[in-house]
Amino acid sequence: MNDTVLATRGLTVRFGGLLALNDLNISISRGDVIGLIGPNGSGKTTFFNTISGLVRSSSGSITFEGSDTTKVKVDQLASRGLARTFQRSRLCLPLSVFDNIAIGAQERVCSTLWHNIVRRSAFHAELRHLTQEIEDLLAKFDDGLAKKMFAQAETLGMIDRRRVEICRALLGKPSLLLLDEPSAGMTHDETNQLMDEILAIRPKFGNPTIVIVEHEMGLIERVTDHCIVLNYGQKICEGTFKQVAADPAVRRAYLGE
Ligand code: ADP
Repeated sequence: MNDTVLATRGLTVRFGGLLALNDLNISISRGDVIGLIGPNGSGKTTFFNTISGLVRSSSGSITFEGSDTTKVKVDQLASRGLARTFQRSRLCLPLSVFDNIAIGAQERVCSTLWHNIVRRSAFHAELRHLTQEIEDLLAKFDDGLAKKMFAQAETLGMIDRRRVEICRALLGKPSLLLLDEPSAGMTHDETNQLMDEILAIRPKFGNPTIVIVEHEMGLIERVTDHCIVLNYGQKICEGTFKQVAADPAVRRAYLGE
């Protein structure tokens, strides 16, 4: 297995006259927890959207798990092992916790349905298996989340909503997990608790590589192995949090020093 999970070469994204990503060469090593940081408007979300197939690049290439995925669509990337969460919770609130997570396994269950259209037992067996898998997954989180498996998502507090989104992402056993501002809408303590839970259960899911976009620098410092700093769509620095925090270009970008 290749040590590089994801690499971009000359990745450029233009929105009209604006260069949101400018000739980005980024390499993400397997098993790392990476912080993707930079001031507002520096291109972090565009980078996530582009590597996960939501935004088409203007030029350059993306390689994920050794294959060129520059033009691969979002659903295909998900089934190849790239999962993400969004800054704004994307749960379907009238649905149950179970349904919200099972949506992530839609392809698995539907393909069973079509292949076994005359063998309903196989479809039901897959559903039973999925139910057990989701229950086991929820049980790995704190605060009795497994007991809320059939609760409506809208009855959950923000930390539980985030946990459900993480469960949905982990269900496909991704090799790369993108977390977009996990702290959004949560207190400092909740954010730290959630991150600790993710890191604790990560080994049970094959230690997916994690990339976090986050403004909460204390969290980035505590949990990341490596940081990449963007400014105006360009990579201006990378290294450990300590190294990038001391870098003059990073200080200028953040503080206008
Ligand atoms: P960050 O996530 O670091 O705050 P973004 O990736 O959201 O930065 O934005 C990078 C730049 O691209 C910003 O100048 C932003 O206004 C612009 N941008 C992002 N998405 C679009 C879009 N869909 N259309 C036009 N401009 C966009």
